[in-house]
Amino acid sequence: MTLENNNNNNNIKQKLKIITVAGARPNFMKVAPFLKALDKFNDSSNDIVITSLFAHTGQHYDVNMSDVFFKNLQIKQPEYHLGIGGAAAGSIVEQTAKIMTEFEKVLVTEKPDLVVVVGDVTSTISCALTSVRYGVKAAHIEAGLRSFDRTMPEEINRILTDKIADFLFVTEESGVKHLKNEGVSEDKIFLVGNLMIDSLVQFKEIALKSTILHDLGLEKGKYIAATLHRPSSVDDKRTFANLLDAFEEIQKKMKIVLPLHPRSKKKLQDFGLQSKIEKMQNLLIIEPVGYFDFLKLMMDAKLVITDSGGIQEETTFLGIPCITTRNNTERPVTIELGTNVLVGLDKNKIIDETLKVLSGNAKKGIAPPLWDGNAAERVVKIIVEKLMIS
Ligand code: UDP
Repeated sequence: MTLENNNNNNNIKQKLKIITVAGARPNFMKVAPFLKALDKFNDSSNDIVITSLFAHTGQHYDVNMSDVFFKNLQIKQPEYHLGIGGAAAGSIVEQTAKIMTEFEKVLVTEKPDLVVVVGDVTSTISCALTSVRYGVKAAHIEAGLRSFDRTMPEEINRILTDKIADFLFVTEESGVKHLKNEGVSEDKIFLVGNLMIDSLVQFKEIALKSTILHDLGLEKGKYIAATLHRPSSVDDKRTFANLLDAFEEIQKKMKIVLPLHPRSKKKLQDFGLQSKIEKMQNLLIIEPVGYFDFLKLMMDAKLVITDSGGIQEETTFLGIPCITTRNNTERPVTIELGTNVLVGLDKNKIIDETLKVLSGNAKKGIAPPLWDGNAAERVVKIIVEKLMIS
């Protein structure tokens, strides 16, 4: 924090510098409302000025997985693009090291008061760790979520980031409980709601106008939207084949549209599983779609089948039935209050649960507390208060 004396009116302005980090698709929906809330704060504050800088690590870098979200979510172009993505980034370990090396240079140049990371990807832990190593405070948005499955790279990223961050912003009660159980001091934990839902609230009306259904020849309520990309679903040939077998049965009853994540597409090719999908007349595999198009696909679907984290939350908020093909979830509120059902990876369970929904027996749900579109503003308010007194 610095003080600046404005000689014209003797106003002392206090200045804060915050760097917000994003790297991968699910980060963009979370940083978009936060960056806007920082700008809004500046517009309304007379005595504190926030210099808001944005760094994109480049973990996801192409049009489908990155550029389209900048356009849809109206995110400003990053002041820093670290460019650590694609095959050149190497293994996760190499990527972590490269992001840290490049991000340190940003910190040396900018000397911010705070670094804000979101979610659970490689960029999240890499930039949080660089910050605290460099002596800069870190805030984690979407803290405290736990699947208790340490085979998930995301779980390791969450645990480590929460261990070192100074401010932990939590989306649901379970997160508060986990952090307290892990011995995190209560004054670091803030239950603020869900920034991904802030984006949904802001853009839902625009998304309704997407022409994707027409473009793909789909009819409202007469298709299933699906996504698959977790290592636990697609990294093992038998598991991936088993999921496709479930899809084969399901598409006999209702059309499935599957915007396929690049890593799943690669695994499909590596495992030689294309022949399986070629047989399925009613399975429509497409490239990943933009945010508005995907929201529209979810909103008009009969149900969603997914292994995604964020999509469990979005379907809960939208009241669309969701079948999650995982053995655990770090977002239990989507089951306790929402429309989510955890079925695991068993083919028959996936088919049975889907048929239940198709026959009109879908689980009903309500939106969790504080998922109201205002989470980002709560975060900014807390950050400013805390940084001003520290
Ligand atoms: N999403 C999208 N286009 C797609 C698939 C997903 O815009 O083709 C959005 C989805 O609405 C959600 C986010 O991407 O906001 C979820 O990202 P992902 O499933 O990759 O990550 P996870 O949430 O599992 O970490």
